[in-house]
Amino acid sequence: MKLLIMGPPGVGKGTQAGRIRDYFDIAHLSTGDILRSEIEARSSIGTEAKTYMNAGRLVPDEVLLKIVQERITKPDCVKGYLLDGFPRTIPQAEGLEKIMTDLDHKLAAVISLTADENELVNRLVKRGQDSGRSDDTPEIIRNRQNIYWEQTAPLLDFYRSKGVLRDVDGLGKIAEITDRILNVLK
Ligand code: AMP
Repeated sequence: MKLLIMGPPGVGKGTQAGRIRDYFDIAHLSTGDILRSEIEARSSIGTEAKTYMNAGRLVPDEVLLKIVQERITKPDCVKGYLLDGFPRTIPQAEGLEKIMTDLDHKLAAVISLTADENELVNRLVKRGQDSGRSDDTPEIIRNRQNIYWEQTAPLLDFYRSKGVLRDVDGLGKIAEITDRILNVLK
C-alpha cells in the first residue's frame, strides 16, 4: 500500500498518519522528520537543508526527490509507505511519479484531510493557550492555513485529475476519522 497524506495545520495529520502506518504495517515517511535527522547527523544534505528550513523556506526539489527516491527503496518500505509532507510542489509530484513508475510502484491513493478553517483556527488557538505557545495566535494560525491551501491546491488538482485523490472529513473523533480513511481506501 503506497499512500500520500495531506492536510492543513491542526487537522491531526500526524495522528492519523501514525494510525494508518500501524494498520497497514507500512513505513511512515515524513520529509520534515527526515530533514531534521539529516541536520542532526550533520550530513551534507542536512547542512544544505538547514539554511532553507531556518528561513521557513522550501528545500530545493532535487534534494527532496533524491531523499525520497533512496528512502522508498529501503527494506522497511517493501510492504508499502505513507508519504507525509511530500510532495509540496508540482515538480516534486511529477518527479515522484517518475520515480514510482521506474520502481514499478503504484500510488494507491492520496488522502486529503479537510476541515472547516474556522474550526481549525479555534482548535489551534485553544492548543496555544493550553501549551503557552506564542506563535499560536489566530492571525498567525490563519496565515499558516492560507499558505497551506495556496501551496497545496495545485497538488490536490494534480492528484484529483489522476483520479487518486480521496477527500476525508478531518473533524470528529480520532477513531472515526481513521475509519473514514480506511473506508475510502477500500
Ligand atoms: P514539516 O515538518 O513538514 O513542516 O517540514 C519542516 C520544513 O522542512 C519545511 O518548512 C521545509 O523547509 C522542509 N521540508 C519538508 N518537506 C519538504 C518538501 N517536501 N519540500 C521542501 N521542503 C520541505
